[in-house]
Amino acid sequence: MPVKRVALLGATGSIGRQAIEIVEAHPGLELCALATGTSPVDELAARHGVAHAQVGGDLTELLERSQPDVVLNAVVGFAGLAATMWTLERGIDLALANKESLVAGGELALAALKRGAGRILPVDSEHSAVFQCLEGHTLDQVHSIVLTASGGPFRGRTRASLEGVTREQALAHPTWSMGPKITIDSATLANKGLEVIEAHYLFGVPYSQIDVTVHPTSIVHSLVRYRDGATLAHLGYPDMRVPISYALTYPERAATPIRPLDFASGLTLEFAAPDLDAFPMLAHARAAGERGGTAPAAFNAANEVAVAAFLDGRLDFLAIADTAEHVLATVSGAPARDLDDLYAADAEARRIAAALVGAGAA
Ligand code: NAD
Ligand code: MG
Repeated sequence: MPVKRVALLGATGSIGRQAIEIVEAHPGLELCALATGTSPVDELAARHGVAHAQVGGDLTELLERSQPDVVLNAVVGFAGLAATMWTLERGIDLALANKESLVAGGELALAALKRGAGRILPVDSEHSAVFQCLEGHTLDQVHSIVLTASGGPFRGRTRASLEGVTREQALAHPTWSMGPKITIDSATLANKGLEVIEAHYLFGVPYSQIDVTVHPTSIVHSLVRYRDGATLAHLGYPDMRVPISYALTYPERAATPIRPLDFASGLTLEFAAPDLDAFPMLAHARAAGERGGTAPAAFNAANEVAVAAFLDGRLDFLAIADTAEHVLATVSGAPARDLDDLYAADAEARRIAAALVGAGAA
């Protein structure tokens, strides 16, 4: 088999570092490009003999130069959009961790996917699970998709008790170790909201057929319920190297160092409905998804601005959801005809959110 050349965008992040481990361990994978936002990349590039590396700048130029077989987009936030679109247009495999680009890009991303006739291999653990549970089946057989959520550090708390929670408390995720932005998204359940929209675009399933269940131990990564009453689930210890490896080696399913589930030592599999009163971001995201057009992009932009302000100590935890609600109530959400429209919708939502959080232009 020829060696697969991997462009790794977001190489120094939580996903990026785990992806490097997977690539290093697999003789059929080779890094051809590395990108970061602000952290230095030279040493990493030298260690892996990668000729094409850049800090910041235009990711599509890097991709043009390096001609990858697969792009692992592990950039955080809307900044990953151009790379997602470039990859989809060209029909190159997109291993997608950067859910924000698909959520915000929405219909334009799907149109590019169709034109390019390539594929998206989900890296998000829930979507990797659903992707695998759907294999060999057609959508008419599907009753619904069920995304699992750990519930984050504030699971079980009332809305009133979340008043004044600190950055440190919100960053203490019980089951996953991840970058700061997605960790806050997990604490508000905005992450699950983004994932509901991501699932809608990835799998072509209406929102009425996408459910969320809170599953604190993060052993069941997601499930697909079928019309005959059978439910298929994907289980494993919470370790992002599994979905990263699956996406990069699909359909090979290469070996990884992750141990198999140990049933003898006991496994706790509990499920409960999410609390939308304490965690309204999940409801706002779903509403934005159902509205369609650029509403998901506006939700994403508002969330990015609010999370950055919360991490800076400029915004209360509960005000993250208020920001998203206000932005969604203000924007038109009109569909984007092209990328310029989409960038304009993103910028407008950011302006409204920034005015609200008192940060000036974001
Ligand atoms: P992180 O903050 O740990 O890392 C982000 C990486 O992106 C860093 O290398 C940073 O330098 C780079 N980056 C930021 N802006 C950039 C830009 N403009 N150009 C190039 N590089 C840029 O984040 P993470 O936790 O690894 O998450 C990355 C993405 O994967 C997010 O979209 C997140 O939602 C998704 N994701 C992460 C996990 C996880 O376990 N960490 C799980 C599922 C999905
Ligand atoms: Mg996830």
